[in-house]
Order: sequence, then structure tokens, then C-alpha cells
Amino acid sequence: MNYDIIIIGAGPAGLSFARSLAKTDLNILMIEKSSIDQLSQPAPDGREIALTHLSVKLMKELGAWSHIPPEVISPIKKAKVLNGNSSYFLNFGNDNSSLEALGYLVPNYHIRQALYDVVKIIDNVEIMTDVSVTDVQPGCISLSNGNNLQASLIVAADSRFSNSRRKMGIPASMHDFSRVAIVSRMEHEKSHNQTAFECFHYGRTLAILPMTGKMSSVVITVSADVADSILNMTEEQFNIDVEQQFKSRLGSMKLIGKRYSYPLVAVHANRFVAERFALIGDAAVGMHPVTAHGFNLGLRGQNTLAKEIKDAISKNKDIGSMQLLSKYDRKHQSITKPLYFGTNKIVELFTNDTLPAKVVRSVTLRFANHFAPIKRMITNKLTEKDEKGYLPFIKL
Ligand SMILES: Cc1cc2nc3c(=O)[nH]c(=O)nc-3n(C[C@H](O)[C@H](O)[C@H](O)COP(=O)(O)OP(=O)(O)OC[C@H]3O[C@@H](n4cnc5c(N)ncnc54)[C@H](O)[C@@H]3O)c2cc1C
Repeated sequence: MNYDIIIIGAGPAGLSFARSLAKTDLNILMIEKSSIDQLSQPAPDGREIALTHLSVKLMKELGAWSHIPPEVISPIKKAKVLNGNSSYFLNFGNDNSSLEALGYLVPNYHIRQALYDVVKIIDNVEIMTDVSVTDVQPGCISLSNGNNLQASLIVAADSRFSNSRRKMGIPASMHDFSRVAIVSRMEHEKSHNQTAFECFHYGRTLAILPMTGKMSSVVITVSADVADSILNMTEEQFNIDVEQQFKSRLGSMKLIGKRYSYPLVAVHANRFVAERFALIGDAAVGMHPVTAHGFNLGLRGQNTLAKEIKDAISKNKDIGSMQLLSKYDRKHQSITKPLYFGTNKIVELFTNDTLPAKVVRSVTLRFANHFAPIKRMITNKLTEKDEKGYLPFIKL
């Protein structure tokens, strides 16, 4: 059977792209290797996603924001960044009273659930689960069940380790940080006052992100060879360890539920398009989560591509033409490239514990704190209030 568009992967990027093209005449197929149960009732995965104002706006336009229970949305009103053993903080959010919040923290599985709920009812989108894409050619895919399908455009949203990207011969820069993010939820004695803390300690980074009530998402980033020792701690040891690392700022702390771990590998495709083929989401750019860009960029990229496609429909033009795809490539690359390489530089600096780097780390924070235009610029980019800004959040 022939389709107008085939989307590979029904993660948050693929789902939001499908929703963006609802109510068009396009005949769209989504292919997802997970089961329908995993897709329709996503399980918690420990990721709490910091969304910018622009992302909230896009989620509202997609009709998905109202599907997220308000009680799981937590505004981040202030952010404090700390370096090494110093108690000196770089502060964000205090001097901008017009801003309701810097961003909003939402559990990833609620985002996925909300997006699935708005896509499952769209007439022009068919979702095929329990089958994976095994090969991709221009305008054609092969499935694990032996079928071959054609479309005017194939859009791959099949994760940062995208097999489709490789099959289409698109090279990518890949950076393995040799570090692991361990994420969990913890209850604590004192209120976080909707403040996010980013502690770039020597040897490990600790992020405490405000969830609803007296609960936070705790993200520990360590080198891969010490991750197991933290994952294997008893709950009691883990509670004491985090409380001590955080110098009891939130009083006693208690683990809730599981600890999840994610190896930190960042990827940026050299180009986002090929003949009748485009990359979106992490398949285009898989970010280190320190600046919390991943899904924010994914939402923005799919929106850019969907707009180009709708424009082509209105002008009766080919939705898979190289002219259209190149426009998307140019626009999105101009946003993702500086962010990707900039984020990797931040990680490099703030995980470098040599003496010169420690000095630069300290000076950087103090300079940013005392130089109002720099702070304003970072806050604008942090919140994506101006829609041109790109730096949503410093998170780990
Ligand atoms: C610890 C952590 C914290 C994060 N925090 C933030 C944050 O604060 N803010 C933010 O914006 N982002 C954050 N992110 C990033 C965010 O989670 C990702 O950017 C987002 O989930 C990527 O969505 P995606 O749809 O592109 O890819 P994925 O979620 O990886 O989905 C890919 C989908 O494709 C399917 N698939 C793969 N291969 C095939 C195939 N061959 N055939 C069919 N289906 C296939 C998979 O089953 C999956 O469903 C964080 C990530 C991590 C790990």
C-alpha cells in the first residue's frame, strides 16, 4: 500500500509530528516496534522533562497539554547553579518578576501518554505496532514482518541510535561521554520552593529538580565505572549519600520507587534530510540532558518540518521534494548546531576537574552572576520566551 508519509517511531517526536499533520488530506502511517500496551499506557521511566515556554505553547497547539494532569506539572521558578565544593551559586529567576516560571517539569511518560491520546483519534493517521523497520530506501521501507511499503516521504523518529539514519547513509557526530545519568524521585523534609539546583561537584554532578509537593527528581551523573556502585547501594545508603552530597539543604531525603540509568551519548546528524527522507527528534539531534534540550528541540524541529509540508500542500507542491526538505534542514540545523556543540563544551568544562578548569568554572559562574546582560540573555534562552532563544535549561 502507498502512503503520503510514513513515520518510523512513535516516541514523543514521532507522535507530535503526526499530530501536527492532523486534519490534512495526507494518508499517514506510524510504525512502532513496541507493543500497543507499551504505547497506549507508557510506563514511568524516571525522566522528568523540563519544558520551555515555547514547548508548552506547541504542546497546547497540539491539544496535548490539556491531557497532562495539572497536578503532575511543576513550575520551575528559580534555578541555582553551584560549582565544585564552593557554596557560591549562580542564580536565575529572582530578578525577572514578569516571568511566572523559567520552565515546567513534566514526567516523560505523561508527555508520551498525552501525545498518544491526541494521535489515536486522528482519522488520517494509522498506527502499526509490534513491527520494526528493517530497511529504508528513498520513499520505501521494509518491515520485520516481510512487507514493503512506499510513501512520498519517510520521516525517521527512531531514537538517537537511529537505524534508518545509517541505512540512508547519513553520517553523524557522536560523543560518548563515558558517563551515566542515574535518575530517581526523592521525598524530602523541607520545601524546594520550586527551585532547581544544579551542583557541578568534582567527580559527579547532582541535579535536584522540583516536582510537586515535597518531592524532587534527583539526577546524579557519574563516570560509567562508578555508576554501578551507586545503583547497587541499599535505599538507606542512597538516601544518606544524596542528602550528604546536597549538604542537607532539603533536610532528610527518601528514595521513592526505582533508580533508572541512562548512558550519556550525544548525537548530531550531519544533515537531517536525504532523498524523500527526513530525520526528526533524537534521530536528528540527541542531546546530553545537561541543558534539557532534547525534547524541546524535537518538538521545535517537527513543527518546522510540518509547517513546510502544510505550506507545500496549500501550494499543491510535492511534500517530499528536496527543495522542501532542504529548507527544513537549513532552518533546524541553524538552531541545533550551536546548541549541540555549545552544550558539549559546557559538559566538557564542568566535568573537567583539573586545576585550570576549576578556576575557569568558578570565574564563569561569578561573571555570569554579576553581569546583568549575560544573565538576561541566558534567562531568555532558558525559557525560550522570545522564541529565538535556544538554551532552555541547565539541568545536570
Ligand atoms: C535522563 C534524561 C533526561 C532528559 N531530560 C530532558 C529534559 O529535561 N528536557 C528535554 O527536552 N529533553 C530531555 N531528555 C531528552 C528526551 O527524553 C528525548 O529527547 C526524547 O525522549 C526523544 O524522543 P524521540 O521521539 O525522538 O525518541 P525516543 O523517545 O527514543 O523514541 C523513539 C521511538 O522509535 C521506536 N523505534 C526505534 N527503532 C525503531 C524501528 N526500527 N522500527 C520501529 N520503531 C522504532 C522506539 O521504540 C521508540 O518508541 C532527557 C533524556 C534523558 C535520558
